[in-house]
Amino acid sequence: MAAITIAPNDVLIVVDMQYDFLPGGSLAVADGDAIVPLINNLARRFSHVVLTQDWHPADHISFASQHVGKAPFETVELDYGIQVLWPDHCVWSSHGAEITADLDIPHAQLVLRKGYNRAIDSYSGFQEADRQTPTGLTGYLGERDLGRVYVVGLATDFCVGWTAIDAAAAGFDVTVIDDATRGIDTAGSLAKAWAAMAEAGVERIQSQDILD
Ligand SMILES: [Zn+2]
Repeated sequence: MAAITIAPNDVLIVVDMQYDFLPGGSLAVADGDAIVPLINNLARRFSHVVLTQDWHPADHISFASQHVGKAPFETVELDYGIQVLWPDHCVWSSHGAEITADLDIPHAQLVLRKGYNRAIDSYSGFQEADRQTPTGLTGYLGERDLGRVYVVGLATDFCVGWTAIDAAAAGFDVTVIDDATRGIDTAGSLAKAWAAMAEAGVERIQSQDILD
């Protein structure tokens, strides 16, 4: 019997399962495609599923191509703090920005786009990287009276981690399903993200805790 039973008002947030983050994409997360069947399986246990979609204009400030002399994975100091620079990815209406067709969650109720402001990145589904601009997701979950938040997807150390931490900051109980995520791990970012999530009170489980 599974250790954890999903309640009727629990919600699964599936983060950024888009072609650019999958093998073959411009910012591919190693082994990212391996979690798709697991996420599909987990999603069947939830009555409520939200998908996030990284969604950038072609001249987005997080792209290394927008900073003279900078390469992907270097950092730059912006008004709101240190920004990791990325290869161009998830550009509006491009194939790479599409959510993978292998994701089989027809009952997903909301696709939340983030990162559409040119001058502000948004790893988190709840709040942009300036830590001031809300996406509206806190209000959506609250208005629908949804309960514990479970988070899966890509990438563990950026969009999954920030989404989980911001959900906790917004007052939700939050759990990350470890083996239904994959990380980028640049400059120790994966270990740092798990430490920050633990610090924020985010629980870390394995999918078998729900599925077995
Ligand atoms: Zn992005």
